[in-house]
Amino acid sequence: MKLEGIHHITAITENAQRNVDFYAGVMGLRLVKKTVNQDSPTVYHLFFADEEGDPGADLTFFEYPGAAIGTPGAGMVHRIVWRVAAPESLDFWEGRLGAHDIELRREGDSLRFSDPEGLDHEFFVADVPDAPLTADHPEVPRELALQGFHAVRAYAAAPETSTALLEALEFEATGAGWEARGDARGGLYIYDPPPDVRPVQGAGSVHHVAWASSVEEHMAWREKAIAAGARPTPEIDRFYFKSIYFREPSGVLFEIATMGPGFTVDEPLEHLGEKLSLPPAFEHLRDEVEPNLRPVVNPRAPQT
Ligand code: ZN
Repeated sequence: MKLEGIHHITAITENAQRNVDFYAGVMGLRLVKKTVNQDSPTVYHLFFADEEGDPGADLTFFEYPGAAIGTPGAGMVHRIVWRVAAPESLDFWEGRLGAHDIELRREGDSLRFSDPEGLDHEFFVADVPDAPLTADHPEVPRELALQGFHAVRAYAAAPETSTALLEALEFEATGAGWEARGDARGGLYIYDPPPDVRPVQGAGSVHHVAWASSVEEHMAWREKAIAAGARPTPEIDRFYFKSIYFREPSGVLFEIATMGPGFTVDEPLEHLGEKLSLPPAFEHLRDEVEPNLRPVVNPRAPQT
C-alpha cells in the first residue's frame, strides 16, 4: 500500500482573475473546475490541472479578496516543483515567462520564479517513468508543457520530528527527499531549513498539500496516520474526491485525497471549468453566492 504521489496542492490568491490569467493564460494549465471553498462557500475555489483534470497536476486556489501577501516560514510549503521533459522546455519557459516580465533563475536542470503574488515555482527536468500530465494550450507545444507535480518543498526547523509519521505513511527516504511512490506515480516531499521570519499565511501561500490514495485504501491511510500519532479529521466528502486532513509534526497541513470520482462527476470533460459548479450539498446557496463572486474570464475559453 503506497500513496500515488501528490494529488493536489492548494494555495491562496487575492485575485481570481489575475490568478486565472497567470495559471491558465501564461503557465498553460487548464481551468478544470470553478467552484467554492466548501469550508467557506462565499469564496472561489479554482482548480487548474492537465487536460483531463487528473490528480498529480492539480493546483487549486482559494480566493480571499483583500488578503495580504503571505510570508513562507517554518511549517509551510514554500515551493512547488513541476516536471518538464527536457532542457529545451526550460528554454521555452525562460522565453515565455520572461516575455511576461517574470524574474527567472536558471540553474542546471531547473528554472525558478515566483507567481504574481510571490508563490515560488520550479520547473525541473525530471527523469521518472510517470505518464506526463499535460494540458493543451494553443501557445504551448505539448512536448514542452508542464507534466505534473514532481515535489513540494517545505520549511521545517526540526524535520526529524516528522520521520515516524512519514514512514508510517510509507514515504521512503531518498537522496532527493521523502518519496511517496505508488504503482503509477510518485512525488517528493523535501524539507529546507526555514528562514528567520515569522510565517504568515496569505496570498501566494500554500495552504495544504494532498497526497493521492486509491478509493479503497483511503480509510486504511487514516488508521496509519492515527497509529503514528496524527489526528486526522473524519473522512470528508468533497464531491470530486474524499479527503482527510491532519497536520504533520513539522507543521504542514497534509490531506490524503481519493483518486476519484474526479471532476467529470458533474460536467463533461470538454466543458470542465466553464461555469460555476456547486456540489449538490451547496446548490441551494447558488443565488446567494454567485452574484457576490467577482466574475472571471478564462483566457483559454473559446471567444464568442
Ligand atoms: Zn485539498
